[in-house]
Amino acid sequence: MITREQIREYMYGLGLCRVGFTHAGPFGRLERVLEERHALGYLSGFEKGAVKERCRPGECFDWVRSIISAAYPYRLYRDGQGSGLKGTISGSAVGEDYHRLLGEKLRQAAEFISRRVEGFRYEIMVDTGPLADREVACRSGVGWFGKNCSIITPSFGSAVVLGEILTNLELEPDPPIEGDCGECARCIESCPTGALVAPYTLDARRCISYLTQKRGGIPREIRDKMGVSLYGCDRCIEACPHNRHGLEDSGPAAVDLERLVTMDKKEFDRLYKNSALGWRGLNVIKRNAVVALGNLGARSGLDVLEEALKHPSAVIRGHAAWAVGRIGGQRAREMLEKSLDSERDQYVREEITAALAGLKQD
Ligand code: SF4
Ligand code: SF4
Repeated sequence: MITREQIREYMYGLGLCRVGFTHAGPFGRLERVLEERHALGYLSGFEKGAVKERCRPGECFDWVRSIISAAYPYRLYRDGQGSGLKGTISGSAVGEDYHRLLGEKLRQAAEFISRRVEGFRYEIMVDTGPLADREVACRSGVGWFGKNCSIITPSFGSAVVLGEILTNLELEPDPPIEGDCGECARCIESCPTGALVAPYTLDARRCISYLTQKRGGIPREIRDKMGVSLYGCDRCIEACPHNRHGLEDSGPAAVDLERLVTMDKKEFDRLYKNSALGWRGLNVIKRNAVVALGNLGARSGLDVLEEALKHPSAVIRGHAAWAVGRIGGQRAREMLEKSLDSERDQYVREEITAALAGLKQD
């Protein structure tokens, strides 16, 4: 036999900052929210699984009796690029890929239980299965939902990543914890794209965190609001009074944009293979770096953007055209006109034409 306190104590020893338990019954609130957001077109397309799979673990995995939810803290860095042409990555993406890191800790916890409970069966999810990590964390008492749609934990605010162990073990559920944003609306005010369309409601398609991870093009009308974000966006988390105690200077989260735009796959793998950036892949991060250079508006960025205009990926060429137009000036005009002469891809030609039309003069 094993007690909940033994499990909790072991998991805290692994560095997890909050552990809670819940039953495998339906997540009724989530089901209603997902249907509503689907109807409004607010889902990003990153959500895994059908609504039933996401909300009814006990029906989809008929052996599951309980869920152990866990939070692991990450460092939060001040949004700021420092000196030079730098982009920023979310604190959750600094260092080893959290999917792997937290997944390994949950696996160790599951093995700890396995050694004590005969017939123990489990499955681990860290943003990898259909279950909504935040909803599980809320019902397990790991934290409460803030208006920014993040889970706020009592001691680490919302600077945490979440995961869970689904198990056949019967464990007494923890009660959800009470929390309230009151009159505060700092997260909503700080969101540059208006993705927080109302308290507790996120239009994921406008969320920079999602946009920096999706493949393909970023809508033109949102690019200038992305600032220098290369992966993720912590603005609504940084703004939250529950997190401000943990802000650190941007050092480890700042990345050299010129180096990134000219980086080959070998160097990218050497630097980022085991990180969340490596999981997302070089071309997506390079596209974001190109947008960041456009947003910085420094003429010195044109040298690497000239290279990006010749990149094999049409998406990168198209976003480079946008960035060159945003920087503006005579050299930018010449670069765009020259590219238009040789460009054969229709999408890129449209981007170049739009960039020329909106180009800032000296
Ligand atoms: S992560 Fe960024 S874009 Fe998304 S809701 Fe928060 S502040 Fe807005
Ligand atoms: S910033 Fe304010 S409103 Fe937003 S989640 Fe934090 S406490 Fe709630």
